[in-house]
Amino acid sequence: MEFEIYEYDVCHDCFYAAMTGDPVDPMDEHGDREKEVWDAIEGIIGETKGHFAAAEERDEGFSWRSCECCKDGLGGSRYGLNWLARV
Ligand SMILES: [Zn+2]
Repeated sequence: MEFEIYEYDVCHDCFYAAMTGDPVDPMDEHGDREKEVWDAIEGIIGETKGHFAAAEERDEGFSWRSCECCKDGLGGSRYGLNWLARV
C-alpha cells in the first residue's frame, strides 16, 4: 500500500484529537473549540482515506506560528503531524 504524506505543524488540541480521536477538552461544555478542531481535521482529511502519524522529529517548543490545522494564532507548543493518505 502506498501513501502520500502531508506534513502539518499543529497545536496541542489538533495533535491530541488527531492522534487519539478523543474529545479535545472534556470541560468545554459548549463544544465550540472541539467543533473547530474537528472541522479543521476533517478539512485535512477531505475526501482521502488514511491515518495520522506523529512526526516527533518536527516537534517544536513554543511558537507563535499559527497552527496549520485549526489556524489558531495563539502561542503554544507545535507538534509534527503527518497525514498519510492512501493512494
Ligand atoms: Zn490546531
